[in-house]
Amino acid sequence: MRVWLVILIGLAGFSAMAQQRTILAVGAHAADMDLTAGAILAHQKKLGDRVVILHMTLGEAGDPYLSPEKYAVQKRQEAEASAKALGAEVIIGPYPDAMLPNNEEARRFVADVIRQVQPTYVITHWKNSFHKDHRNTSAIVTDAVLMAELEAVKTDHPPYRGVRGVFYADNWEDSEGFHPYIYIDVSDVFDQWKGAIREYQMVRGGVSPFAYFDYYTSHLAEEGALVGRKYAASLDVDESAKRQVLDSLR
Ligand SMILES: [Zn+2]
Repeated sequence: MRVWLVILIGLAGFSAMAQQRTILAVGAHAADMDLTAGAILAHQKKLGDRVVILHMTLGEAGDPYLSPEKYAVQKRQEAEASAKALGAEVIIGPYPDAMLPNNEEARRFVADVIRQVQPTYVITHWKNSFHKDHRNTSAIVTDAVLMAELEAVKTDHPPYRGVRGVFYADNWEDSEGFHPYIYIDVSDVFDQWKGAIREYQMVRGGVSPFAYFDYYTSHLAEEGALVGRKYAASLDVDESAKRQVLDSLR
């Protein structure tokens, strides 16, 4: 017999765990984390948490009508407007779209951001994706969480060992092997989140053939229906993070 464990963390769940947390979401391209984790970030912000988004690249190569230079200016403005609407701080990495290097330098860059921001939780891409920048971001971030702890890794800031968990966001481009493990009730911020993601032209339409707005809004409704809430967003974790030790069955 297979027993499914669904952990539903809503207003009471995360808030009962600590007073104020800092959540750092790291995406490959501006809009990735807004779309996949933005509702969770807005929800946690409402609970009093500090929320920060790091976009490794602006995702400036994706507009068929604008040069990357011009689209980068637009994406930066959109990223700032979306973050503001979510109640998040925003950091934009120095890397070019489609050419995010999977190397030590990128790991040191993220490790230094982690040391500066001092997150309680980190959210990033799931390890499998058909997009190279997404796969690289996932690998870079998971290594950087460990590197940020180490004295031997020298960056501009001292070591930081406070990350309690890494979560993976539910992205249509990263779906291979992704299984929702935690569902967060985001019904209270759904409209706010919809307004935030529509700051991006690629979400409103006319840039990509993919129907971002329709997909993500209906996906949160679908996830909510699965767990008995109006809207929910899901996260996965590493297999090792699923291990629970109990003194007895509850
Ligand atoms: Zn992306």
